[in-house]
Amino acid sequence: MDYSLDRRATLIALFQGKASAMDACDADPYLRRAAKHHGERTQRPCPVCKKNKMVELRYAFGDQLGQYSGRIKSLAELDEMENEFGEFRVYTVEVCGDCGWNHLVYSYLLGDGKVRKPPRKVRTLEDDDWVKR
Ligand SMILES: [Zn+2]
Repeated sequence: MDYSLDRRATLIALFQGKASAMDACDADPYLRRAAKHHGERTQRPCPVCKKNKMVELRYAFGDQLGQYSGRIKSLAELDEMENEFGEFRVYTVEVCGDCGWNHLVYSYLLGDGKVRKPPRKVRTLEDDDWVKR
């Protein structure tokens, strides 16, 4: 799936004054922090503020990932997962650390096609966080 059309529509709306920069640049602090620490820098300049190079974040989602579905993964991790899971979808989001512009750019399927059971649920630090909230 290619989301670039949707992205263009948002940008056009922004420059026509139909959407405010606040609507388009709504990266929450978590997303900005994630972009800073886990993002992979691209050569594309930010389409909104044009100051920064865009950073890409990749989220892996899939039933076979079990509790690990929805986590941010690096390209190297995705390479490994490709042989560990039958099927999962990767969502690539571009984020500008400067103005906060963020958008889903594209998604694609990965996996070796062999259906596996999700990993057994294990308790993680993130679960503890969840309980506290
Ligand atoms: Zn920007």
